[in-house]
Amino acid sequence: MEVAKRMKAIPPYVFAAIGKRAAEKAAAGVDVINLGIGDPDQPTPKHIVDAMHKAIDDPVNHRYPPFGGTPAFKQAASKWCKTRFGIDIDPASEITSLIGTKEGLHNIIMAYVDAGDITLVPDPAYPVYQNSTYLAGGTPHFMPLLPERGYLPSLAAIPQNIAQKAKLMLINYPNNPTAGVCDLAFLEEVVAFARKHDILLVSDLAYSEMTFDGYKAHSIFEIPGAKDIAIELQTLSKAFNMTGWRVGYAIGNQEAVKNLAAIKSNIDTDIFRAIQMAAIAAFEGPQDHIALCNKLYTGRRDLAIKNLRKLGWSVEPNKATFYMWLPVPKGMTSNDFSTMMLDKCGIVVPPGTAYGPSGEGYFRISLCCDEARLQQAFDRMVEHAVYFEPQAAKV
Ligand SMILES: *Cc1c(COP(=O)(O)O)cnc(C)c1O
Repeated sequence: MEVAKRMKAIPPYVFAAIGKRAAEKAAAGVDVINLGIGDPDQPTPKHIVDAMHKAIDDPVNHRYPPFGGTPAFKQAASKWCKTRFGIDIDPASEITSLIGTKEGLHNIIMAYVDAGDITLVPDPAYPVYQNSTYLAGGTPHFMPLLPERGYLPSLAAIPQNIAQKAKLMLINYPNNPTAGVCDLAFLEEVVAFARKHDILLVSDLAYSEMTFDGYKAHSIFEIPGAKDIAIELQTLSKAFNMTGWRVGYAIGNQEAVKNLAAIKSNIDTDIFRAIQMAAIAAFEGPQDHIALCNKLYTGRRDLAIKNLRKLGWSVEPNKATFYMWLPVPKGMTSNDFSTMMLDKCGIVVPPGTAYGPSGEGYFRISLCCDEARLQQAFDRMVEHAVYFEPQAAKV
């Protein structure tokens, strides 16, 4: 049976493909070290799990939840945004629940992008931006994120006709996969650009809490007037170690929030009430696990830097996310390197090209395993002589 044409527009989900290759290795007896997918390895804080236990016993919570999130969930999310970013979000009209950011990204694109429309998509980026554009029949215009620009896109490099035609622009700082961060001046620039060209600005703030060395991430709504043109997607996944729970929300422009909620109400029936109650416990409870996790991530980052430098990589400490974005050794493609890492060392690292064409020449590592396991990965690289530059390696 012939599948829909749109199926041909999207490549297989990259992590599914990598997972399959790694599973084959593991089945063959290799002790595979997964530095691939970004998923916090620490448990969800206990007070959140406890709130879920309690909520699940109440039959009221077993029924369909209301569309767009319970009033209590929206209230708590709005308050958290006020405390964390100093921004005012009306719980009644400027917020809607999401079954995770991934779902929200897809649906906001479906709500705004018609066949033939253009989206402005960072490159490299979280693959959903590009793939959901294709699913909507649109075309992504890639905005390269380069190290020499601190992984910020050059808005001046976007051709006039593209800027005029574009419907929607995506940004993601702190950034996956480059670990780049932005300041308020950049956000101001993007807001002005989106306003000038009548573009819906979609800010993916998945890593707002995963920041180090004194850096604090910003909400787009810290920029005056951003609500006129922007929507921001936030998630409990990374901040509260809740990736499996599937809970997030979108805030901002009333029209955009309303349209996102409208499309969603035709597709899903929202988040299990008990999970929304657990999320409220997350918003209102102690936040100290965030600092603890960030300490853990910086320890791993520093261990990785020390080892990578010995292997000839020149690498500076990233200020956010549990990712490191690194060049592959000269003379190799991203895919060559990723394949070699799995075949020689039994280590999963996604090729940079999985995140867009500008990812060629790079690979990403995630710091989602403990230091002993990480060290084991670097020891295997030494053992199998995987150096960035053999001459520079001090092993
Ligand atoms: C992890 C991640 C998400 C997905 O988060 P969920 O809320 O779990 O769907 C969204 N955007 C980026 C950039 C991510 O890395």
